[in-house]
Amino acid sequence: MFEGVKTSTLLDRDPRLEDVMCSLDTVGKMPKAISGEIREAVALARRFNDTVARPYALELDRKMQEDPTYLPWDLIKEANRWGFYTGWIPKIFGGKGWNLGSMIPVVEELCSVCAGIGNLIGVQYFGISILFAGWNLRVIDKVCREVIEGERSGEPCLVSGLVTEPGAGTDAEEVELLSKANVKCQARKVEGGYVVNGTKVFISNGHVSTWHMLIAYEDLNRPAETMILFAVKNGMKGFSFGRMEKKMGQKGCPASEMVFEDCFIPDENVCINAEQMEGLKRGPRESGMQLIDFVVSLTRPGVGAMGAGVARGAFETALQFAREKEVDGKLLINQEWAQSLLAEMYKNVALARLTYMECNHVTGLYGMASLLNIKPLYYYMKGMPVSMLDRIMPAANKMDATTKIYRKLIMDGQTDEEARRASGWASLSKFAGTDLGIKNCHLALELMGQAGLRQDRWAEKFLRDSKLLQIYEGTNQLNRLNLFKCLVAPGVPEARVFEE
Ligand SMILES: Cc1cc2nc3c(=O)[nH]c(=O)nc-3n(C[C@H](O)[C@H](O)[C@H](O)COP(=O)(O)OP(=O)(O)OC[C@H]3O[C@@H](n4cnc5c(N)ncnc54)[C@H](O)[C@@H]3O)c2cc1C
Repeated sequence: MFEGVKTSTLLDRDPRLEDVMCSLDTVGKMPKAISGEIREAVALARRFNDTVARPYALELDRKMQEDPTYLPWDLIKEANRWGFYTGWIPKIFGGKGWNLGSMIPVVEELCSVCAGIGNLIGVQYFGISILFAGWNLRVIDKVCREVIEGERSGEPCLVSGLVTEPGAGTDAEEVELLSKANVKCQARKVEGGYVVNGTKVFISNGHVSTWHMLIAYEDLNRPAETMILFAVKNGMKGFSFGRMEKKMGQKGCPASEMVFEDCFIPDENVCINAEQMEGLKRGPRESGMQLIDFVVSLTRPGVGAMGAGVARGAFETALQFAREKEVDGKLLINQEWAQSLLAEMYKNVALARLTYMECNHVTGLYGMASLLNIKPLYYYMKGMPVSMLDRIMPAANKMDATTKIYRKLIMDGQTDEEARRASGWASLSKFAGTDLGIKNCHLALELMGQAGLRQDRWAEKFLRDSKLLQIYEGTNQLNRLNLFKCLVAPGVPEARVFEE
C-alpha cells in the first residue's frame, strides 16, 4: 500500500505511540468473549436501574437528607440479590468471574441514574482491589468466601478500603507526597500481630461493610517505607465506627469515620508488610506505592466512568425537558440554541466514555488484572467448573510459597513504563470524566431554568453528586499533576514534579 515508504519504524513498538493509543495493543490480544460480557453486564445494570434504582433514588436522597444516620440496607440487600457484590470476584475465589473490562461500563450505567447508588455498589471493588493488591492468597480466599456466602445467605458481606486520614488525603496516595504526609494511623508490632491506633475518615460504605482493608504505617516518620496492609473484621476489639459524614451529595452511600484504639490485629490478617515487600525487586518503599498504584489504576477510571454516568444522566434529563417545554410557542428541542447545547452535552458524554474505555485497555494490559486477559487463562477460568475451586484453593492455602510466586509474577512482572502508563491514563480518565460530568450538570441547569433547581427534577441532584467525584480518589488537581508526571515529564528532562 505504501510502496517505497519504509514502514518498519511505525510497526516497531514506539513508546510515544503506545503512550497515546493504548488500545492499539489490546485489540488483537483481547479475548473475543469480553465484548459479549460487557453487553450482558450493562444490560443487567439497565434492568437494575429500571426496576430498583430509578424508582427509589430521589426518595433515598431525601431520606438520607432528613436522617444522615440512616443505613440503606434495603438497597444493599437488593444489589446483593442481583449479584453485584460478587460479580467481579474471579471464579477461582468463588465469584462470578465477570471480566473486569465490563465493570466500569456498568458503573457508568448505574451513575446515569444515581451516583450515590453507583458508589454503594462500585466501591465494593475499591475494597476488593486493595485486598487483591497485597496478593496474599490466604487472606483473599478468607474474605472472598465470606462475600460469596453473604450473597448466598442474603446477608450482604461488603468490603471497604481505608486510606484517608483526618490529616492526609491526597498525600496518602502518592509516594513522593506520602514521605511528608501527616499520617497518624500507626501499627506497632507485638507478639502474634500488631496493635493499631489511629482514625480513618470519609470511608465509603464503612458502616455497612463487614471487612475493612486498612493501610497503616509502622514508622510515622517513614510511612512510605513501612506501610502495612491489614484485613480488619467487624467486632475486632479496639475497632469502632465513628460519625457518618453529612455531605452535599451521593447521600445514598454512607461515608464513615473508623476508629482504632489499641486494636490488636493478628498476623494472619496481615495482607502484606514491609518485610514481605523486601523480597520484591522494587523494595518496600516503591512496592508499597506500586500496591496503591495498582488499586487506583483500576479505580480511578471507575470514577471517570461515574463522571460519564452523571454527564449522561444530566444530558438525558435536559433532553427530556427540551422535548416537553415550549418557549415562544415552540418546543425547546426545535430551537437551534437548545440543539447546539444538547449536542455539546452529547459530546461530553462521548469524550468521558472514550477516555475511560481507553483506560480500560491500559489496565487490561498493564495492571494487576492483566493476567486475567491472557487468552488461554481467560478461557480456562471462564470454563472452570466451580467444583474444582475448592480443590485448588485449600492447596494454595497451605502454600504461602504460592503467594510469593504470584506476588513476584504480578508486581515484579510490571515494568516501570507499564506502571507509569497505567497510572497516567487512570488519572487522565478520572479528571476528564468527572470534569465533563460537572460541566453537563451546569449545562442541564442552564437549559432547564428554575425547573432544574427543583428537587424532583433530578438535575440539581446530579450536580450535588458530581462535585464529590472531583474530590475522591485523589483530587482532580493532584490527578493532573500525576498525568504530567507519568505521561509528559518523561519526555522533558528538565521537568520536576512533586519535588521536595
Ligand atoms: C464522598 C467521599 C468518599 C470517599 N471515600 C473514600 C474511601 O472509601 N476510602 C478512602 O480512603 N478515602 C475516601 N475518600 C477520601 C478521598 O480519597 C480524599 O478526600 C481525597 O483523596 C482528597 O483528600 P483530602 O480531602 O484530604 O484533600 P487534601 O489532600 O487535603 O487536599 C486539599 C487541597 O489541596 C490540594 N493539594 C493537596 N496536595 C497537593 C499537592 N501536593 N500539590 C498540589 N495540590 C495539592 C488538593 O488538590 C485540594 O485542592 C472519600 C472522599 C469523599 C468526599
